[in-house]
Amino acid sequence: MDQAIYFDYAATTPTKKEVVDEMLPYFTTNFGNPSSVYSIANKSREAVLTAREQIAKAIHAKDDEIFFTSGGTEADNWAIKGVAENYQSKGKHIITSKIEHHAVLHTCEYLEKQGYEVTYLEVDEDGLISVEALKNAIREDTILITIMYANNEIGTIQPIKEIGQIAKENGVLFHTDAVQAIGTEAIDVKEYNIDLLSMSAHKLYGPKGIGALYIKKGTKMKAYIHGGTQERRRRAGTENVPAIVGFGKAIKLAYNNREDNNKKLITLRDKLISEILDKVPYSRLNGHQTKRLANNVNISFEFIEGESLLIMLDMKGICASSGSACTSGSLDPSHVLMAIGLPHEKAHGSLRITLGDRNTEEDVDYLLEVLPDIVKRLRDMSPLYEDFIKKS
Ligand code: PLP
Repeated sequence: MDQAIYFDYAATTPTKKEVVDEMLPYFTTNFGNPSSVYSIANKSREAVLTAREQIAKAIHAKDDEIFFTSGGTEADNWAIKGVAENYQSKGKHIITSKIEHHAVLHTCEYLEKQGYEVTYLEVDEDGLISVEALKNAIREDTILITIMYANNEIGTIQPIKEIGQIAKENGVLFHTDAVQAIGTEAIDVKEYNIDLLSMSAHKLYGPKGIGALYIKKGTKMKAYIHGGTQERRRRAGTENVPAIVGFGKAIKLAYNNREDNNKKLITLRDKLISEILDKVPYSRLNGHQTKRLANNVNISFEFIEGESLLIMLDMKGICASSGSACTSGSLDPSHVLMAIGLPHEKAHGSLRITLGDRNTEEDVDYLLEVLPDIVKRLRDMSPLYEDFIKKS
């Protein structure tokens, strides 16, 4: 292979050329500070307004409900800590799920240390929360439900509309981490009764280090970062104008072409899923079969280590991701795979393939050609597999 084939679009995406082209003048020509009064500053100010409008339109929000952040992590932190701080007189109970991104889970754990109580809802074998369990978890002192739109590892999409309805009926705020869903899912914050929603540009072919939090008008949220008057005094600091412009352009492109893009991704995704399961024995799909992101494939292979699989795929010029966090210094398997009930050994042997706009049918065919052989070679080296074969 001349060039690596990238199958890790859930980790990050390449910034589209049209997006970079749109951003470039804001580094050099239109570099003014949006808070200044002269005309080059007007251009930056207008560009920020345009991007805010583009982002609001994509999720059916109002422009002044969009607040720029440094990315999804900051948006999640702001949403959860913000509600905790501003609604503590009502109560100190938060509901989330066991499969949230660490930006949500670690924020909840931090709040537990500050005296808040958090209920972590279980998920079923497909990664779905139970709406009945959610209803039962709501108490007098519940102030927030924070449930992700779609999972970053297994791609399962939660029943967002039903969750929003339950939150509304019970007078509880609803935050959703939509970092993985934005750009591929049709999101309507009004119809779904979403009060707070986190986004990040680098998952939708925009630049890294920029995201946004949608905060429904009327939600009590005081300043998160103190300083100047930017972001309606709630998140101070000179705006990252080029990145904001890039985010706006990227989200506009994503929603202009959403249905065509999804159609192509779903065809590739379904081909990968059915052929891998068909060609590789002792493999299983993780995540819901249909309530699943258009670009997500997550499969566990018994008797192998995901990390070894990734290294061997890399040697064949393929970039993918695994369900264990060994590379980040921990030997724990993914909390998501554990939550859907996979035993340690199966969770360790999982592979996440996330597709994107540069992937072609040839890429998928190449992966299908090399993967079964790699799995077989790894199994041939595995004492566990040897044992299993002897016994069967
Ligand atoms: N939430 C989810 C579901 C994610 O997948 C990610 C990134 O992987 C984040 C939050 C964090 O976003 P960012 O990288 O913009 O901080």
